[in-house]
Order: sequence, then C-alpha cells, then structure tokens
Amino acid sequence: MANPHPADTTTTRRTLLAAPLVHIHPPLTEQVQRALADGADLVELRADCIDDSGAIEDFLRAPSRPPCILTLRSAAEGGRFDGTDADRIALMERLGLLIPGYIDVELDTWNRSANLRQKLGLVCDMGGPQPLHALDRPRNRLILSRHDWTGARSDDPGRTIDELLNIQGAIAKAAFTARDATDALRVLAALHARRGTGREMIAIAMGEAGIASRVLAGKFGGFLSFAALDQSAASAPGQLALRRMGDVYRWNSIRAASRVFGVVGWPVSHSRSPQVHNAGFDAAATDAVYVPLPVEPTQAAFDRFADYVDVHPELDISGLSITIPHKPHALRWLLDRGYEISTFAQRAGAVNTLSRAADGRWRGDNTDGVGAVAALRASLGAAASLAGARAAVLGAGGAARGVAAALLAEGAHVTIYNRTHTAADALSADLGCASQSWEERDRISASIIVNCTSVGMGAAAGESPLPAGALRAGMTVLDTVYSPRRTALLRDAGAAGAAAIEGTEMFLEQAAAQFELWIGQPAPRQAMRQAFEQSWT
Ligand code: NAP
Repeated sequence: MANPHPADTTTTRRTLLAAPLVHIHPPLTEQVQRALADGADLVELRADCIDDSGAIEDFLRAPSRPPCILTLRSAAEGGRFDGTDADRIALMERLGLLIPGYIDVELDTWNRSANLRQKLGLVCDMGGPQPLHALDRPRNRLILSRHDWTGARSDDPGRTIDELLNIQGAIAKAAFTARDATDALRVLAALHARRGTGREMIAIAMGEAGIASRVLAGKFGGFLSFAALDQSAASAPGQLALRRMGDVYRWNSIRAASRVFGVVGWPVSHSRSPQVHNAGFDAAATDAVYVPLPVEPTQAAFDRFADYVDVHPELDISGLSITIPHKPHALRWLLDRGYEISTFAQRAGAVNTLSRAADGRWRGDNTDGVGAVAALRASLGAAASLAGARAAVLGAGGAARGVAAALLAEGAHVTIYNRTHTAADALSADLGCASQSWEERDRISASIIVNCTSVGMGAAAGESPLPAGALRAGMTVLDTVYSPRRTALLRDAGAAGAAAIEGTEMFLEQAAAQFELWIGQPAPRQAMRQAFEQSWT
C-alpha cells in the first residue's frame, strides 16, 4: 500500500488543522504543499467541489502525501454532490480503498443506507481511536458529520454531538450556524463538557459569529479545526485563512490553559484588536489568545452573552474589549448584576473594558479617555499641561463620554457639540461641562478638538464633522476615527497648520491600557504598534 498510515498524526491528540481543498487548479500537489507550508496538518479533499475523481485518485496514489479527509458532501447537507446515493457510495468506496486517512459522511446518510454502512465498514476502522499503524492493515477513520445550516440546533449543540457519539468508533463532527458569539461559546462549552469521554469530536460554529469556535478548538480539545488556503478556498462561512490562524491567532501556541480575551461589538470584523492584542500576548510571552466576539446589537443580546460567560468559568474568558454599540449595555449589565465599575467608567457612563478577577467577579473600566489623553500628551509634549486648556468634543456617544470625562479629569474646560443637541445637553449635565449647538461648531475657539462622532468612517468616509474654515494653526486635532487613518478632518487640520493626531494613537493607547489591566504588566507597545501597522498591508 502506498500510504501505510496516512492518519498517523492522531496518535499525538494535538488538535489538528485541516485545509479544505475545493478547486482542481492549481494541481492538488501544489495546493497541498502550500497548505502544509502555511501550517496545515492535513487536507480535506472536497471531492464534491473538485469534481474530478481521476485527479483525486492520482493524488491519493502518490507515494508521499499527508493524511487526507475524503468528503463527498451531498447537496442536502450543503455540499455540491447532486448524484444518487448509489453513485456517491461507489465513489467513496473506490477512493476509500486508497486510504486517504479519514472519510467524512453525514449521519443522516449513514443511518438511512445499509449499503453505505457495509461499504464504508470495509474501508474504515470502527474499532476505536487506536493509531492506524497498529492495525493489521491500514484503514480510514470515519468522521460522522451533521450540519445545521439554519441555526435551529445552535441553542443546544451538545444534543447533536451526543447523537453523533452514539455511533461507536466514529469521530463526531457537528457544525452549527452561529447567530452571534454566544452560539460559538455554546459549541466550545459542549466540547469542554465531553472532554473526559475520550471520544474525538469536531464542533464548529459557522459564520463570522463562530470564528472563536474555530480558533479555540485546540483549547477545548477539539479533534481538528479547519482553515482555508485563502478566502476563495473556504469551504464554509467563517473559515479563516491558514496564515491568519497562525500569524494573528497563534494557533500553535493555544493550549488548554490559555486564557481567553476578545472584542465584543456588532460588527467586529473590521476591528484591529485581535491583531494588536495577540501580538501583545506574544511579545510578553503571555499564555492567552484574543478573538472576535460579535454580539447582536441589543441590551438583551449583550445580557445573554455576558450571562453565559459569567456562568461558564471553564471558558476561561478573562477580559473583554467592548465596542459599538455595547459600551452602555456593559455598564447596565454590571450595575444590574452588582459588579464593580471604576469611578471613571461610571462618570463616563460607558464601559469599554471588562476584566474578570480570580474570584470570578467582573469589573468595568473605560480606557478610551486614558487613550485619548495619552495621544494628546504625546503630541503636545511632556511639558504641556491639559489643565486649563479649552477643549471641544464633537459627539455625545460612548467615545465622547470617555474622552470628555478624561479631559475634565485633567483640568481641561470641555464643551460638547453634538448633532442631536439633547444628547449634548444630557452629557454636559452628567459631566458638569458646557455644551453648544451643532451649528456653533463653525466658530470653535478651543485649542484642542477631539472628533468622537463616526463622521469620517464607513459610509461617511471622506466627510469631515467640521468645516475646514473652523480650523487654525495652533490647534491640536485628534480624530478618534482610525479607519481610514488619514481622515478628511485631519487633512484639513494639517492644511490649516494645526497638529493632526490620528485615531490610531488613541486606539493603541487604549489597547495598551486594557493589556495592563488584564495582564498586570507594562504593555509591549512596540509589538502592538507593529501589528497594527501590519494589519493595513
Ligand atoms: P456612538 O455611541 O454610536 O456615537 C456616535 C456619535 O456620532 C453620536 O454622537 C452621533 O450623534 C454622532 N454622529 C453619527 N453620525 C453623525 C453625522 N452624520 N453627523 C454628525 N454626527 C454624527 O459611537 P462611539 O462609540 O461614541 O464611537 C464614535 C467614534 O469613535 C467611532 O468612529 C469610533 O470608531 C471612534 N472610536 C475610536 C476609538 C479609538 O481608540 N480610536 C475608541 C472608541 C471609539 P447623534 O447623537 O446625533 O446620533
């Protein structure tokens, strides 16, 4: 036999990383080489997508190749094979005789087809998890899978996993569509709860909301996780590229003891926090990993997520960055549950950082203000004082609250300008500072201006919250918007001879402050900055 034990890597029980191959070009050998070079342990040959059984056969006969998962997914389970069961079984048997290593078949097909059970019984080892090379003749391992594309089973992933585990000898693979990050955490908790069974399980929350389940499979004892060669080769929604898994999420360093951190918002796909914090953990040799956690944009969804984290300490979630729109929701949640909130976050009325103490209790902080002040200080010079300076804050949302409170704490005279004047009034009353109508911003006389509106990003990229004529030499202008980096406001400020500070500076400073709250040591600022810079390339 050409490949005596293609699935030999199972003996280590380290969580494997599998790259699905869905294209026939470039040649399979080339794709496999790239997958291995990018960190994959094995590949999944999606025979239903590749649609060239001759090429797959040639590849499987090659004298030296890595273990492969052979998958011929039916259209009914989200694949592309639309032939009859008889054709599918015949092809699986033919390719299975070449001992790819693993054969993936859906539980429903397994249950309904005695023919399939008999044919796969001939080429698969159903006798348990012993290494293939220990057998008298090499066989494949069977992966029994179930895919929930509707999200109907996402509330209770354990039920599906248990159904799959009923089939002795098979590796259970359950994939669910995640509605938000709470579903991804449910999948991980279900894996964790069954860890002691000694059975091999693959459990995945699909979609962008499920990314945490893919990254953290290693921590929670998953048998394997999937990552694609690149985005065009992803075989399921939410699959990350192999390089991203390795470079950003440090796949190989995630262990059972790794602490988990993440960013909670809606959406969070644009966030650079995973790059920045994971690089910080790496530079500080901290055993931790940081993941995106998209949570639907309501108080109820935030409460559901936070309560789930609260009662599942085994998830090891030790700290969370909170972003739009959840900063006020986090504050409300902490208040309602009787958890501590820093004086500054209370004053700001917004929480952008949650930290969990060793006794399991949560504390809320706000590092946005600290970040803005640090960025202003760096520009103004160490000798300059903010005390007595006149500062204008544009906006009255979560960021404006933190920034205005921090400027006031430094002794600055703050005026709030906001499109919706009632919000400006409410914030100025809360903080004890001045407010002016939005139209008055044309005549700003402050020496420091901080844009805390979202004007300049997203749909409003290219727009400025201030008319260019309002800017003068001698002003210092900080735009909290950091994507794009050089906003129209900063361009106008530079043209007027004012000092222009990118939101990047504030972003990095608030992230460094979070790192220090969570890890209790100085943040490796240089590594975090470098990762941020690289995230744009
Ligand atoms: P938020 O709570 O949703 O507040 C948004 C603010 O923008 C509100 O004051 C809103 O005014 C105003 N606004 C929105 N569209 C506007 C428009 N077309 N014209 C005038 N004003 C408009 O959001 P947030 O959390 O405060 O975030 C605001 C910005 O800060 C975002 O760009 C975010 O990326 C940035 N930020 C940056 C950092 C960093 O580290 N660099 C940290 C935190 C936030 P209304 O009250 O009238 O709706």
